[in-house]
Amino acid sequence: MDMEKTKSFEAAYLKHQVEDNYDRFMIIPYILIVICLLFLWRNLYSRVTDSYHTHADAYLLLWLALIVASIAFRVALPKVKAMGNVTRLDHLIFSFAITMCISAATLTSLDLAITSNYTAYAFTLLGAATAYRTSIAKYLVMVIVTFVYFNLFYFFVLDNNYSFSLIIPVLAFSTIATFIAVSLENNREQLVHLSSQLEYINLKLQEESIKDPLTTLYNRRYLNDFLQREIDDYKRTAAPLCLAICDLDYFKKINDNLGHLTGDDCLIAFANILKANSRTSDVQIRFGGEEFVIVMPRTNLDAAIQVVERIRRATESHQFDSIPWPITVSFGVTNITSQDDFDSLLDRADSFLYKAKRSGRNCVVSQL
Ligand code: GH3
Ligand code: MG
Ligand code: MG
Repeated sequence: MDMEKTKSFEAAYLKHQVEDNYDRFMIIPYILIVICLLFLWRNLYSRVTDSYHTHADAYLLLWLALIVASIAFRVALPKVKAMGNVTRLDHLIFSFAITMCISAATLTSLDLAITSNYTAYAFTLLGAATAYRTSIAKYLVMVIVTFVYFNLFYFFVLDNNYSFSLIIPVLAFSTIATFIAVSLENNREQLVHLSSQLEYINLKLQEESIKDPLTTLYNRRYLNDFLQREIDDYKRTAAPLCLAICDLDYFKKINDNLGHLTGDDCLIAFANILKANSRTSDVQIRFGGEEFVIVMPRTNLDAAIQVVERIRRATESHQFDSIPWPITVSFGVTNITSQDDFDSLLDRADSFLYKAKRSGRNCVVSQL
C-alpha cells in the first residue's frame, strides 16, 4: 500500500516537473534563437571587417545548428505533449537540455582557443540548474556528459595541449550548478509534499464540516446547501422531490434509564438503518438530537412513503444493543409543490411529523 502511494506520488511528481519544464521550455527556444541571431549577425559582420578570426566558420555552423535545433524543438514540444505521454515529453526536454549544454561546451572550447572565456559553459549550466527540473541522477548525467564532451572536444578535436588548470573552472561550475540544482529541486519537492498534505487536510476539513461526527451522516449545514440546490433544480426541471423528517419515539426514556452512551449507540444504529434502507440517490441528514431528514430527489410521494415505511418497519423490528424494549420512529413526509421554498417544505414535513406523534407515534403521515 505504501509502495503504491510512493509510486503514485512519484508519477504525480514527474508530471508536475514536466509540466513546469514545459511552460519554461516553450519560451527558452525563442530566447536562444534571439541570442543566436545576434551572434550570427556579428559573425557575418566580422567577415566584411578586418576582425575575422579563427574558428569563425565553426561558430557560424554552431549558431545555425542551434537555431535549427531550437525551431525543431519548439515545433515538436506541443505535438509531443498532445500525445499525452509524460515520459516521452520528459525525454524530449532532457535531450534539448543536453543539446544546449553540449553547444555551450563547444562554444566554450572555441572561446578558450582564443581567450580564457568560460561564459557559455557557466551560464548554461547555471541556467539549466535553475530553469530545468529533473532528478539528481539525470542532472548528474547531463553535467558529466557535458564535462566529458568538453574534454574530448577541446583537447582532442581542437588538438590543444592538456592543461589541468583549464579544467578547474569547468569542474567548479559543474559542482556549483549540481549543488544549486539539487537544493532547488529538494525545496520544490518539499513544497509539493506540503501542498499535497494541505490539500488533503483541506478536503478532510471540508468533509468534516458537513458531517455529523456521531452518526457520520450529513449535518444541517449540508442540508441547507443541498436542499436549496434540489429546490432550484425542481424549479428548472419540475422533477419530483420529496422530503421526510423523522424523530425517534420516547428517546428520552433511553437516556434517562440506560444512560447517554446507550442513547448515542442507539442514534448510530438508527443512522445505519437509515443508510441501509434508503436508495443511493437519497440523502440522510442528522437534523438535530434524534431528528433526521431524508431528501429524496426525483421521487414521487408514493415512492417516498414506501421508502420511509421500510425504514419505520426496519427500526421497529431491530434489536438495539443494550435496549430491552423495541424502538420506534415517527415520520412526516411530503412532496414539493411549485409554491414551496426551503422553509415551507421543511415546515410542512415537520407539521406532518407532529401529527404522527399525536396520532400515537410509530407511523408515517403525509397529509393533514
Ligand atoms: P418523542 O416521542 O415525543 O419524540 O419523545 P422524546 O423523548 O424522543 O423527545 P424529546 O425531544 O423530549 O427527547 C429527545 C432527547 O434526545 C432529549 C435529548 O437529551 C436527547 N438527545 C439529543 N441529542 C442527543 C445525543 O446526541 N445523544 C443522546 N444520547 N441524546 C441526545
Ligand atoms: Mg423523539
Ligand atoms: Mg425530538
